[in-house]
Amino acid sequence: MTNLIEFDRQHIWHPYTSMVDPLPAYHVTSADGVELTLADGRKLIDGMASWWCVIHGYNRAELNAAITEQLEKTAHVMFGGLTHEPAVGLAERLINMSPQGLEHVFLSDSGSIAVEVAIKMAIQYWGAKGRPEKSRLLTVEGAYHGDTFGAMSVCDPVNGMHERFTGVLPQHVFAPRPEARPGEPLTDQDRGVRTLFEQHHNELAAVIVEPLVQGAGGMWFYSVDYLRLLHGLCKEFDILLILDEIATGFGRTGELFACLHANVEPDIMCLGKAMTGGYLTQAATLTNAKVAKGLSEDGGVLMHGPTFMANPLACAVACASIDLLLAGDWQAQVRAIEAQLTTELEAYRDHPAVKDVRAFGAIGVIQAKEPVPVADLQRIFVDSGVWIRPFSDLIYLMPPYVTTPAQLAQLTNAMGKALESL
Ligand SMILES: *Cc1c(COP(=O)(O)O)cnc(C)c1O
Repeated sequence: MTNLIEFDRQHIWHPYTSMVDPLPAYHVTSADGVELTLADGRKLIDGMASWWCVIHGYNRAELNAAITEQLEKTAHVMFGGLTHEPAVGLAERLINMSPQGLEHVFLSDSGSIAVEVAIKMAIQYWGAKGRPEKSRLLTVEGAYHGDTFGAMSVCDPVNGMHERFTGVLPQHVFAPRPEARPGEPLTDQDRGVRTLFEQHHNELAAVIVEPLVQGAGGMWFYSVDYLRLLHGLCKEFDILLILDEIATGFGRTGELFACLHANVEPDIMCLGKAMTGGYLTQAATLTNAKVAKGLSEDGGVLMHGPTFMANPLACAVACASIDLLLAGDWQAQVRAIEAQLTTELEAYRDHPAVKDVRAFGAIGVIQAKEPVPVADLQRIFVDSGVWIRPFSDLIYLMPPYVTTPAQLAQLTNAMGKALESL
């Protein structure tokens, strides 16, 4: 084979890179536990959990077995007019573990699609009620909901991808990013979101937000009171609430779902990322009976149906991953990671390059004063035996829950080394 890295560099896009001047990519040959092995034999502790998915670590016997057992039965079958045990088992588990009232499940292939489906559900709901003018969304700045067009339209309008697609994206209503951090009282600006409801409620189908943690839009944590405020306003003004738990679901924040910190039940909830323990691509949009039944009140059907909907392999490994999560010690693990991240990142707060440090659940963030040089920092991280992928001004960790205190310390030490280079 030709030089792998060189071929990759010349022919294959990686996420958010150019074919003209790509960022370097490292060659992984295997992964086990929380470690990636590179082609040159180096082992890296993965602080990213492969973009927040691999909560149980790599190469887990239970998850491998779930896939191989299912593989002997059916790798895939169309979901139009057919059903199977892995899909039903997964839907049952999701309904049982999710906030009250969510009892209808649409399975799809990725998080962005789960968001598209949520948006369609909300718009179809109001259409079926004879209120087609209720077709816009309200969201907050600093959000990230995915890369497809509907999802992009509710990402942050400045840091998101709007300027590249002006005129193509639907125009939604944006409130400022929630200001109050966890434990802090709401600010006047936060409470000001009410004005947007007063002005726009007649054209709003739904509010869509990431509960308590804004992920790829800035790794920002905000108060439960803001989520409760939005929930109350949705009820008052008769607007649906969509919670995007794709990053936060399955225990990442210390509750199974972040909205449980606030006792807020959404009408529609999006799940993805950690659902299969990082094994296969699978997402879900859950909804309550009001929306599920309501959207067909005019005799219509939900207008979505991907080719690989409810793929049996993905459903089977999702079931096994959820069983592993629920039978395990995730809550204690996440709490311990939170405590260690809080202490160890605090040491960097006064570093001259640092603007803020923060930790919530198994998420730890160093926010620099300026955007950081990604390729340079990655070299430092790889040389330090860890895998951390910064973006913009953020150097952050979202490690597997099974990361040991010693491994976590190696990750936070490497973050310190990276800071020294800035
Ligand atoms: C990652 C993410 C998405 C998009 O999921 P994909 O599987 O990458 O399409 C949507 N919303 C949130 C909050 C995410 O973190």
